[in-house]
Amino acid sequence: METRHFLKLEELVEDPIIESKEKDVKIYGLTSIGRKLDILGYVESESRSGAFHRVSAEYEPSSKNLIYGNCDCEAYEFFGNPCKHILKLRNVYIRNSNRPNQK
Ligand SMILES: [Zn+2]
Repeated sequence: METRHFLKLEELVEDPIIESKEKDVKIYGLTSIGRKLDILGYVESESRSGAFHRVSAEYEPSSKNLIYGNCDCEAYEFFGNPCKHILKLRNVYIRNSNRPNQK
């Protein structure tokens, strides 16, 4: 099997827009497209500490539906379903978007 390259923590130089308390989820992009929201970020791998998956999620805030997600992990590639990284990214967004006085 080929060796994959996942982003390392030290390669994430910019400050994220939203970051989870555990610092394992970092959101760098939030783009509204009509009623949908494009969320782009990085989620730390559980099996490889310090490596981050590039994750995107298309989310509809009004219905709380996850419309589409993409991730560079093996689980997503093999099964195609929203993997735990996509769900984590969305959950961190939801948790932080409800918080008043968000930076
Ligand atoms: Zn994944």
